[in-house]
Amino acid sequence: MKDRTLLMIPGPIEFEPQVLQALGAPTTSHVSPDFIDVFGQALERMRGVFCAPSAQPFILVGSGTLAMDAAGANLVEPGDRALVLSTGVFGDRFEDLLGRYGAEVTVVRSAVGQTIDFDVVKAELETGSYKIMTATHVDTSTAVRVDPQLFGELGSQSGVLTILDGVCSVAGENLLQEQWGIDVVLTASQKAIGVPPGLALLMVSQRAMRAWKARKSPVGNYYADWGQWLPIMQAYEARKPSYFATPAVNLVCALNISLGQILAEGMQARVGRHQLTGDACRAALAALGLATVPTRVGHSANTLSAPRYPDGIAGVDLLSKIRAAGVILAGGLHPAIRSEYFRIGHMGATRPGDLLAAVGAIETGLHQCGYSFDLGSGVAAAQRVLVGG
Ligand code: PMP
Repeated sequence: MKDRTLLMIPGPIEFEPQVLQALGAPTTSHVSPDFIDVFGQALERMRGVFCAPSAQPFILVGSGTLAMDAAGANLVEPGDRALVLSTGVFGDRFEDLLGRYGAEVTVVRSAVGQTIDFDVVKAELETGSYKIMTATHVDTSTAVRVDPQLFGELGSQSGVLTILDGVCSVAGENLLQEQWGIDVVLTASQKAIGVPPGLALLMVSQRAMRAWKARKSPVGNYYADWGQWLPIMQAYEARKPSYFATPAVNLVCALNISLGQILAEGMQARVGRHQLTGDACRAALAALGLATVPTRVGHSANTLSAPRYPDGIAGVDLLSKIRAAGVILAGGLHPAIRSEYFRIGHMGATRPGDLLAAVGAIETGLHQCGYSFDLGSGVAAAQRVLVGG
């Protein structure tokens, strides 16, 4: 039998063949006319994917954490007050990160599995003088989703710059950056954007660019300083050669292909497909009697699911049996509940058949672990949602 596994972790994910082919193509010069055109087109396409027609895109070599770092480094000045909305590990990361650049950070933290209460946020903002607010659209450690529209609108109304970590949401969850007034949306290549790890992407509003230009102190990060990168991004869009630090040439070619595929699918259709997949996965888990970390469907992500292990089932054992059945899933990540749950990524190129295969493998694993349930009930429940029944 062909040794083939299905990667269904919440990033990196399975990638489209055309995207992977771009990585195997001969590498060209980062200032060759062909590549300049590809880079310029990728920047233009980012505006469509983020729904931010007048924002400034940045494509940097790095992972999602670099994108977070760039947002913090460029917008925080020592002594600025920052409000971090945290629904998990990646929200908490902002507390440490913004502190490194001298911010005085206050955290509004939800209980594990719950989302942010915006009444609490509003009350906190009314205490005054916040410059920046961050949120994690989908925290990959909990599969909890925050409402980005409320976040952006509250920031705009309060005159606070908003930074949204969209690493586990952009190109999967509904996100209208400009309409909702979100200043910075950042992501990485390896999730719903659909490109192997290695690119950090940011989309910065003109308001945030003005705030950056008005800084009194220099950006305390050499590589991530927008002052280094703005001329480069502008040059690529103007189809002119430029250089500050070498771009990841093949990854940018792959990114341009993936962004083209995403826009060809259409943002609304793509978000709808992720919603359907999320619904199907939730239906399967419910049929199997597995609770999830998010406490309500309304704030459960559509890009991943976080089911709890049934009582008496050892997580490591179950995941290795699922792996033996051909599907790679991820363990828990949140330190408070790490051993109590696992994670299924279902974003980007995930097809209905992939989800059914993953649910089938979970059933195989549960069965082999001695869990009592109706074999096939999870697959049937997912299938009913997928066929619209
Ligand atoms: N934010 C979120 C929501 C994430 O899921 C991740 C990665 N899992 C990161 C930030 C950090 O991204 P990276 O691992 O690419 O640095």
